[in-house]
Amino acid sequence: MLHSRGGLHRGRGMEITLRAVGIVHSPFKEKFGIPRQSGLVPEACGRLELLPPYNRPEAVAGLEGYSHIWLQFVFHQAIRERWQPTVRPPRLGGNARVGVFASRAPYRPNPIGLSVVGLEAVVVDGERVSLSLSGVDLLDGTPVLDIKPYVAYADSLPQARCGFAPAAPPRCLTVHFSERAQEQIARRGDGEGLRVLITRLLELDPRPAYRGDEAQGRTYGIRLYDFDLRWRVTAGRAEVLELAPL
Ligand code: SAH
Repeated sequence: MLHSRGGLHRGRGMEITLRAVGIVHSPFKEKFGIPRQSGLVPEACGRLELLPPYNRPEAVAGLEGYSHIWLQFVFHQAIRERWQPTVRPPRLGGNARVGVFASRAPYRPNPIGLSVVGLEAVVVDGERVSLSLSGVDLLDGTPVLDIKPYVAYADSLPQARCGFAPAAPPRCLTVHFSERAQEQIARRGDGEGLRVLITRLLELDPRPAYRGDEAQGRTYGIRLYDFDLRWRVTAGRAEVLELAPL
């Protein structure tokens, strides 16, 4: 559903109303710790539930033939009254500024995100239509505006120049689990999958780009599923301390 009010005025953009076609269910219950781009952690799985009136099996007919899809979504937890023309991307150490339109930062004039994610399955169960996803960088509850198949011949440009983000960020930390964390993980249903997910997330070093010496040895928490993942970094090594219940 799209309608515009008043058209395009001198010096003023068109106002547009959009309706979410779906909502994402993901392990990520807060922004901190989410991979900074889709595909960085293929093990990060989620589910996109189509919302009425878009939960029609016909609306996704043929989508199962695609391995990846584009999602356009709202950064619903990054909505601000005022916009800033520049941002400080973590890739530049959090100090240098670039134009907001030269970045993939969540804080933008229109808080719209774009992620290419794996499509593992199209699940139709009566009124419920959902897509199983992998490689998500999306907060739980993210509203999705549109879904489109990823078309390699048009969308993949391996020769493209990529400014300040020429390659994936390095996996710079090794990850270890305390005995307590190992026991807690083993007691859960998908222990091995969870261990791999946590390892992949922490290897990327999710700590804020600018941090002082106190970042060494400090305990961080990441809300995943129904627990707070407690971990710290010392000398290039991330140690998972425990999975504290929320
Ligand atoms: N692939 C997208 C998103 C890149 S920014 C794009 O390029 O547009 C990724 C970051 O957005 C994540 O690390 C997470 O912190 C943040 N994020 C994800 N979902 C969000 C949401 N619904 N609201 C606010 N921030 C979100």
